[in-house]
Amino acid sequence: MPANPNNHPPPYEGGCACGAVRYRIEAAPIGVRICHCRICQQAMASPFIVQASFPKSAVTVSGETAHWQSSARLRRHFCPRCGTRVTIEPVDGDRLAFPLVTFDDPAALHPEMHIWVTSRIPWLALDDGLPQHPEASPEPYRDGQ
Ligand SMILES: [Zn+2]
Ligand SMILES: [Zn+2]
Repeated sequence: MPANPNNHPPPYEGGCACGAVRYRIEAAPIGVRICHCRICQQAMASPFIVQASFPKSAVTVSGETAHWQSSARLRRHFCPRCGTRVTIEPVDGDRLAFPLVTFDDPAALHPEMHIWVTSRIPWLALDDGLPQHPEASPEPYRDGQ
């Protein structure tokens, strides 16, 4: 799936609510997805997460983070002071994902698809016209750059 043409170009900067953790991203996203899986719902204390993935080599994170491993595949990093969830790191890939709402400009990037809609909260209506995948995306990432 191609990137949304309304996306702003990199760099992107953002961080946690208290300011102790900051990040800077020097590449365009390789995927921007809305995930409705139960782990994202619980981990974010939210009906869904909107996250963008980037090549890890393009990302600089400053400030102390703590993490927990939410599944065999994913580590979720958060600010130990304010609790903001700042990055999601697949243990099997050279990528980092960031929730769009932690960007200084939370509208800089646009979501491309919904995934794990089998666990979408029923009162949440989806009428944005984006593709909806029952579980994981069949083609989760564009080739990195
Ligand atoms: Zn913080
Ligand atoms: Zn998820």
